[in-house]
Amino acid sequence: MTGTEEMIKDLTRRVEKLLAEYDPARTDRLEFLRARFDAGLAWVHFPEGLGGLGLPRELQAHVDRLLAKAGAPDNDPRRNGIGLGMAAPTILAYGTEEQKKRFLRPLWTGEEIWCQLFSEPGAGSDLAALATRAEWDGEYWVVNGQKVWTSGAHKAHWGILVARTDPEAPKHRGMTYFLCDMRDPGVEVRPLRQITGEAEFNEVFLTDVRIPDEHRLGERGQGWQVATATLMNERVAIGGGDIPREGGMIGVVADTWRRRPELRRPDLHARLMRLWVEAEVARLTGKRLRQKLAAGQPGPEGSASKLTFARLSQQLSGLEIELLGEEGLRYGDWTMKRPDIVVFTGKDAGYRYLRAKGNSIEGGTSEILRNIVAERVLGLPPEPRVDKNVPWKDLPR
Ligand SMILES: Cc1cc2nc3c(=O)[nH]c(=O)nc-3n(C[C@H](O)[C@H](O)[C@H](O)COP(=O)(O)OP(=O)(O)OC[C@H]3O[C@@H](n4cnc5c(N)ncnc54)[C@H](O)[C@@H]3O)c2cc1C
Repeated sequence: MTGTEEMIKDLTRRVEKLLAEYDPARTDRLEFLRARFDAGLAWVHFPEGLGGLGLPRELQAHVDRLLAKAGAPDNDPRRNGIGLGMAAPTILAYGTEEQKKRFLRPLWTGEEIWCQLFSEPGAGSDLAALATRAEWDGEYWVVNGQKVWTSGAHKAHWGILVARTDPEAPKHRGMTYFLCDMRDPGVEVRPLRQITGEAEFNEVFLTDVRIPDEHRLGERGQGWQVATATLMNERVAIGGGDIPREGGMIGVVADTWRRRPELRRPDLHARLMRLWVEAEVARLTGKRLRQKLAAGQPGPEGSASKLTFARLSQQLSGLEIELLGEEGLRYGDWTMKRPDIVVFTGKDAGYRYLRAKGNSIEGGTSEILRNIVAERVLGLPPEPRVDKNVPWKDLPR
């Protein structure tokens, strides 16, 4: 038996044991999820004692399949996308043992939802320009500033936060990374509405928010390095999902094409075929990316995947509108909603078209991702940078 076969056999045994001890039909959902975490079957690639078994990441799919077949509840990863996709791998990489023990279990079960307090007015693509200050008063870090575009802040218990702790240092070196309790006094969350009418995100005002030093992630001044780990994971989380063939937007458009022959036109046929092939290439590239991930940290390839995802999403939603003609323009629901998750399927084509606009902005704009691919994958000369060794406080704003 090969090593992988043995690992699969062992995992099967562990799943059977969990199911025998916690019958999904009779066990409370959260109790089951907590037991699953404690059995190391939450994310098998995480270390033992932290919801995993230190196994290759690909083996998780086997566990998920067995549990789904047995009718076990899952933790619906879409409800805590920022927690699972970004906060968790960053806490695992930079957290102290106490932080990992405190935060990873309720994050994985979904008992604690996370948001990402990175972007600011004036610091989006140029994240290292951020101006939110965190000052040590001898007892606490006292945080003041404004964040923007904070998805899910209204339902989050915790936020990953980058703040400036040393204005005298050049911009990339004077930041520190924190875990911010969103229920603390001084955290004010206000909805921001999008082109779809929904408010998935918010502006967040931080006024004298007191963060204890135990909630600093990584060393003082190491914020940029920690934030980079989050951003690389973010791109994989957005663009590198494990989807079946014709999953996502291509599936929606192909389905309309099959069901509605009266809408077909030769020019649209050629475009659909091209996009179908591109979607399949993107899907298989995502598979390869996840295999590489199993062997280490995500690299710049995650940026390429996110870039492709955004381009395809916009081209396909545009094609769908053209295919449907007037029917596609019918979206007219502008009532303010606070959706729990972003779903493209099961909604109007007009909604998909409008929401897809944000895909090339969220998680890093396509222009920035092209720069990363140019510099770090293709090795092209970098853009000139004039602010590298200048103290942040002396930069023009
Ligand atoms: C749906 C959605 C959800 C979001 N959720 C979150 C969240 O939860 N938390 C969070 O912190 N942020 C979030 N964001 C913010 C997002 O990360 C930022 O909007 C993004 O990083 C771009 O920053 P900006 O909006 O300030 O644009 P700017 O940085 O002002 O950029 C404006 C334009 O200039 C281009 N540009 C800038 N610099 C360069 C350059 N050097 N070379 C070439 N072109 C350049 C950009 O690509 C862009 O087209 C979200 C955004 C969206 C749309």
